[in-house]
Amino acid sequence: MKRNLRFYFALLFARCTALALKLIGRKGTSMPGSWAIILCPDFIGRMPKPKTVIGITGTNGKTTVANLVEDVLTKNGIEYSCNRMGSNVNTGIASALINSSHFWGKPKHDLAIFEMDERSSPRLYPYIQPDILVCTNLFRDSCKRNAHAEYIFNILDKEIPKTTKLVLNADDPLSSSLCPENSRVYYSIEHLDSDKTACENIVNDFPLCPKCASPLHHDVVRYHHIGRVHCPNCDYASPVPDYLAQNVDIDAMTMMIEDKDGGHSYPLKNDSVINIYNVVTAVALLREMGLSPEQIRTGLDAIQISETRYSEVKTTNGKRIIHHLAKAQNPIACSRAFENVRNASGKKAILLLLDDRLDAAKTVELKAWLYDTDFEFLKDDSIEQLLLVGKRHYDTYMRALLAGIPAEKIVHMEDAQAATAQLDKKADTFFILYEMHSISLAQNIRELTLSSEWATETP
Ligand SMILES: [Zn+2]
Repeated sequence: MKRNLRFYFALLFARCTALALKLIGRKGTSMPGSWAIILCPDFIGRMPKPKTVIGITGTNGKTTVANLVEDVLTKNGIEYSCNRMGSNVNTGIASALINSSHFWGKPKHDLAIFEMDERSSPRLYPYIQPDILVCTNLFRDSCKRNAHAEYIFNILDKEIPKTTKLVLNADDPLSSSLCPENSRVYYSIEHLDSDKTACENIVNDFPLCPKCASPLHHDVVRYHHIGRVHCPNCDYASPVPDYLAQNVDIDAMTMMIEDKDGGHSYPLKNDSVINIYNVVTAVALLREMGLSPEQIRTGLDAIQISETRYSEVKTTNGKRIIHHLAKAQNPIACSRAFENVRNASGKKAILLLLDDRLDAAKTVELKAWLYDTDFEFLKDDSIEQLLLVGKRHYDTYMRALLAGIPAEKIVHMEDAQAATAQLDKKADTFFILYEMHSISLAQNIRELTLSSEWATETP
């Protein structure tokens, strides 16, 4: 697209906005990009792009994968632009392009890594065509915003440019079916000790063969529809991977990934299934970008997993308080968190800070997502207590009762601090499951709990 007077006016206006924001000490906002797109709707199309653009999309894991990839590049001294500090919709990407360009728009770097919101595809791909695009997975998400998984699949399938090379999860039959005409590679994990052959979750977004509509046979189930499938009635089966993770060793925190050049060992950052997939995804993408196994390994070795998503502190009497992110309105992310809590050792109490009424000014989600979320995982003998708080506590209380959790194990009320004051002394581990918008509340609760009798008295 040509650059016209309107584009240059939008660019200058956006720069002035960015300067004004800098002067008042605000960072990482998508406001400059918002103004650029208001003043010039096809601004991203007219803005000069770096030589290589990498996109990362999918329902879950895209932020973690983007951060892993960016950190490995940084550790190897490779410069790039990214939207890490801003949003992953069109205004955030416009802001990132503006931020990382010279005055008239020439890119400062030859490489860009952009996390791209899947729902925003029609406002992105007509204007910016990634050379390589990763899709981590596709699941149902907030039903108000994303409808259902097939709806998002159809948007991506229609909008992804035909010239884009795809890096796809062979263990997700839904996202691995995207854009069959595009050039692609697949990644997969061969075996995990936690593998199952039947789905324990309420939600399975891919039960039927896409060719003949027969019920699929699950050879391996990891979580929800993630695993290996084949159709007993036709030749449909999970694709053969180009990057195959093998010998996942949780004790040594390493794995081997076999690619066309042989097997290479990589470090793991966290033992959860989701995080193993995130590392495999990042490795496959970085290899496609031309990095050597040695460069990737060195980069991964130096990375610390983000403390905003998971952190653990010990109390003076030897108990544990664990912060665990569990995105509200996202039944898959919450179910993963609930399964992690169930599988953790010890006698546990859980506080759920997942009330979407906290951002009621912008959105109020209908509560159907609670019924797609596996509260049944919390009906376990190792879970002593469930603290349900927030303005919607009656909704979560009802859901917990329907999951079969005994009423005597549940405390429910609006005030999170008052509920925490009733923390069960029998519990030796206190899980605080929180939303991105309840991070500071989660931290306050942790501080209060650390000085409470629960954390200081000798049991
Ligand atoms: Zn079939």
